[in-house]
Amino acid sequence: MEVRNLAVVGAGTMGSTIVVSLISRGFPVILKDVDQAAIDKGLATIDRLLKSRVAKGLPQDEADHQRSLVRTTTDYSDFAQVDFVIEAVPEIIELKKQILEDLDQNCNVEAIFASNTSSLSITQLGAFTRRADKVVGLHFFNPAHLMKLVEVIPGLETSSETVATAIELGQALGKLAVRVEECASFLVNRLLGRYINEALFSLQQGLASVEDIDKAACDYVMPIGPLALRDMNGSDIGLAVARFNHQEYGERFAPPVILEKMVERNLLGQKTLEGFYVYDQETRKRKGANPVLASMTEPLNNDAPFYVETLFLPMINEAFLVLQERICDPEDLDPAMMAGLGMRKGPLAIASEIGLKDCLGAIEQLYKLHGERFRPAPLLKRYVWARRTSVYS
Ligand code: NAD
Repeated sequence: MEVRNLAVVGAGTMGSTIVVSLISRGFPVILKDVDQAAIDKGLATIDRLLKSRVAKGLPQDEADHQRSLVRTTTDYSDFAQVDFVIEAVPEIIELKKQILEDLDQNCNVEAIFASNTSSLSITQLGAFTRRADKVVGLHFFNPAHLMKLVEVIPGLETSSETVATAIELGQALGKLAVRVEECASFLVNRLLGRYINEALFSLQQGLASVEDIDKAACDYVMPIGPLALRDMNGSDIGLAVARFNHQEYGERFAPPVILEKMVERNLLGQKTLEGFYVYDQETRKRKGANPVLASMTEPLNNDAPFYVETLFLPMINEAFLVLQERICDPEDLDPAMMAGLGMRKGPLAIASEIGLKDCLGAIEQLYKLHGERFRPAPLLKRYVWARRTSVYS
């Protein structure tokens, strides 16, 4: 189905940057929020981003044209013409239910509803409407106008036409649109969660300092260290996500105690100016590692070498679990991780580089030491038994 008339519900962090992504590709958009103040906030973000694009060379008349593609509203009176809605309201199931019911009432029967939810079930969201076949997950990454990945998640009842339309739209926005089957946290954040937890365990166990962990990860394949990233998103959000994954996947996702301690002490990261790092009150720039962590971690063990690969082994193991569950096409896994997180190399490429046999050997050793979070993925064992050297060979 060709999508022409779009609406975005929610003009917050995600909604406003999704709008910028849409208008930059020439799509007219209706932007809805609860009141004029919320809309003005969203428009201010859109204007700021367009201005910075003009500063970088976008012609002013093109920016003006893009801006003219945005219409705003606080009600659904114009929604009858819309053929694709992207919902980006807060992650509260009752709220999403209300929005979907309202959309169902006010939109054409053919219209597709896409949710930008990070964690809610697409099947459950679809069941709030009388068109579960036309409800799909469309998971953008923050900030949506820059991040190159969009995960397209069908619920149990979503039709293949709806999935195809969502993928085409993602591609029309210049993004890598990857089909991901429904699972908690979807693909990228599921794998990211295992790696961030491991960074926190390494810190907690005194295996390396905050700076050393982040530097090692950046030198290896990451654009930003795991602890700096935790500070950026906020440890409160991080803990909520970690608890959700733990509840959905069980013990291997158990949150490290240090994360709970950070939240208890309100060391939430950039927003409280203190987290794994301390931030300058004026400039908000990072000043250095937070000395208070010394009381929350085991003493730093300078004798034992720190292997950066250890951070990535849980991610690699989870990647094999994902493949085993057929969550995505194996060919899509590394490109999705690279586009979604800015990794220079995906976990399957890292695994091939280490060698699948050596990966399994290391994971088995760590399983003996740390238990469940390193239980080897059965598919990884099968690859080794079959003497495969790479997932792609
Ligand atoms: P946000 O709080 O920044 O924005 C939400 C917006 O929705 C606000 O402007 C709010 O006024 C508006 N809203 C609330 N009720 C509404 C209603 N009834 N009708 C219209 N608008 C309404 O939230 P966000 O960070 O943009 O997150 C939105 C969704 O995107 C959530 O499901 C979240 O899980 C998901 N998500 C967030 C991120 C992220 O990094 N922030 C990344 C990926 C996905």
